[in-house]
Amino acid sequence: MNIPAIIKARLARWLAKAEWPVKWAIFGCRACGQCVLRQTGLVCPMNCPKGLRNGPCGGTLAGRCEVDPQRECVWVQIGLRRDARGTTAPPTHAPLNEALIGSSSIWNCCSGADRPTRRPLPPLAATADAGACCTASRLEERLRRGRFVVTAELCTPSTEQGLDRMRDRIRALAQMADAINVTSNHAGVPRVAALSLARCVGEYQGEAILHLCGRDLDPRSYLDALVGLSANEVHNVLCLTGDWPARAEPSAGNRTPPRTAHYFPLEAAQMIYEASHLRQFGASALADLNARPAPRLCVGGAINPSSVPTSVVLARLAQKIACGVDFLQTQAVCDARLFGQWFQAVQQAGLATRVPILASVPLIGTARGLEVLRRLPGVLLSDDVYNRLRTSTDVAVACRRWSTEILANLASIRHLAGFHLLNFGAANEFIAESIQFARNLAAQSSPVAVDR
Ligand code: SF4
Repeated sequence: MNIPAIIKARLARWLAKAEWPVKWAIFGCRACGQCVLRQTGLVCPMNCPKGLRNGPCGGTLAGRCEVDPQRECVWVQIGLRRDARGTTAPPTHAPLNEALIGSSSIWNCCSGADRPTRRPLPPLAATADAGACCTASRLEERLRRGRFVVTAELCTPSTEQGLDRMRDRIRALAQMADAINVTSNHAGVPRVAALSLARCVGEYQGEAILHLCGRDLDPRSYLDALVGLSANEVHNVLCLTGDWPARAEPSAGNRTPPRTAHYFPLEAAQMIYEASHLRQFGASALADLNARPAPRLCVGGAINPSSVPTSVVLARLAQKIACGVDFLQTQAVCDARLFGQWFQAVQQAGLATRVPILASVPLIGTARGLEVLRRLPGVLLSDDVYNRLRTSTDVAVACRRWSTEILANLASIRHLAGFHLLNFGAANEFIAESIQFARNLAAQSSPVAVDR
């Protein structure tokens, strides 16, 4: 029987009005119209202030939400409901289809309108070229050869003049580090185009890793950005969900069906999946566009070893591996003993040999740098350490010694693929010394690791 479109539309609206109050009362439903409750342990992920369809983000600590620490992280709840054992990768869902928000998920399920975003993304086939390099990235080549690598980080300045002032630092680091991370809009504050800084690194024969945040890009602009990297000889991308924008107000909790501007259009697992899919199949999995030639990039991601419960973090790690990530850099490590315990759990889950993991060590050069680290979402800096450093007679000296101790204590961890040196107001000399110190440590502690 052919039902007229106007009747169908009325039925769908009526169903949406009837469906939402019931599902809100039972599941805290936010009426996204593409229901994934069956895959999320009957916990509605749209209560995540960032609106993530896969999680958790790197900002959760002690199971609390980065955006609103008064409440539990929704994706930690989902992970516990899923009873993640950390070994199996949870399903990865595509970004939200905004057009379906506020409509009836029952209607969309019956009509198939929500199929692309309700069903998990198809698993990526294990790459035939697992051993060989499949990009022009020097970093990928070193990691695939089992070389112990040391990467450093440059924060994109807010002005072109700032970029010029950074040239000395770029020149110094480009020759010393295996690769240099270039942040984009870090802390949610707009800055000079990160690609300008990445191109600068290339001018000094350095290897750039450009950060891209799902907070700032929808599937089309993300594809555009990946094509732009390739066209500018930048062969590495770090896929991040992104911190909550400094001035944005969380919208979760209001009773009306949600239509909020604050949902992040993409998150890290989706971005990793898309970049790997482009490399493997030459086609976009998320955007209704195609890039010719498709970018072939070395794909990196991040993981937070300080988040709990560990099983949920390991499941997120397994998810990023299943999405095709080539390397992972951790959130800042401020306690080598705790990191060692976490890495042991990674090894026991059989994940440490499936992806190179670089431990990120904060290099603090100033009291202000210490404060910035203290406030960074997802960083666990204990009150003891913070107060000890903050009250020391010479904060810069005490912080340098502390960073160096962490490096030394981490160096003996087997299967660690390298160090990533984060910069919190550190001077060029200190960064250069730390790179050399990290290499020497790696050479001493596990020579096999250096040239394994
Ligand atoms: S911590 Fe992150 S993933 Fe968890 S609810 Fe908050 S914003 Fe969402």
